[in-house]
Amino acid sequence: MSNLERLRRFLAPGPCSPGQVITLAADQSRHMVTVLRIGTGRRIRVFTGQGDEFAALVEDADSTAARVRIVEKCPAQPSAIRLTVAFAPPPGQRADILIEKATELGADSFQPILCERVQGFQAAAAARRTERWQRKAQDAARQSERASVPEVQRPQRFEDYVNGARDGLRLIAFPGAPGLWGLLTGIPEVPDSVTMVVGPAGGLTSAELDLAKQAGFRAVSLGPRILRAETAAICLLGGIVLWLDAMRE
Ligand code: SAH
Repeated sequence: MSNLERLRRFLAPGPCSPGQVITLAADQSRHMVTVLRIGTGRRIRVFTGQGDEFAALVEDADSTAARVRIVEKCPAQPSAIRLTVAFAPPPGQRADILIEKATELGADSFQPILCERVQGFQAAAAARRTERWQRKAQDAARQSERASVPEVQRPQRFEDYVNGARDGLRLIAFPGAPGLWGLLTGIPEVPDSVTMVVGPAGGLTSAELDLAKQAGFRAVSLGPRILRAETAAICLLGGIVLWLDAMRE
């Protein structure tokens, strides 16, 4: 088996150390054994969700509780800039898409925010959907080979969130504001963290925009079209990821 072969990755239920035998959770076991048909004796990789990754061997390919021996720790991935996406949850599956795509792009944390123009029932739904979103983030992290799973936070009121977010580059997407690219190209150094806020379908109110600006957020436009919230979040994060990549070169 070549070292270059890409091994399948599975999420460990907790911290791991070499020599230990762990039991994968039922969904991970089913995916490995039933879906991917990986049997006893095969090499896999295991990641902890806290940034650690290990080479491992399947000891017992049980489709509900697979047992896996941890062999050795893989070199750490380069430490990244912390990326937070704060979003007014769009209804139904559009929020799932936001979580999935933003996880692929490298979001580290999701913060559902309750804005003035979010209806009451959507706010209640947001609270109930946190666990579902966490699972979406977990699946997307595994699929895109990330060693860490983004955290999905409990919903917070817009005002509380923007006043509490105090570090790094903080952006709020607002149609008609100065363009994102113009702002980014004027920033000389890479920040430690980037926080991105995207509003609800009904839009952010001007009072919310003012509040965010007072708290240190900078309003940015994502071009001349009105995007749905999930598209805006993906576009903004995509822009940030490309900018950070260019800044590293
Ligand atoms: N009618 C609303 C549209 C909201 S779209 C309005 O005019 O504000 C949902 C969210 O996506 C917005 O609150 C904003 O945060 C973001 N968004 C959509 N299109 C955008 C654009 N062209 N530039 C910046 N942000 C945008």
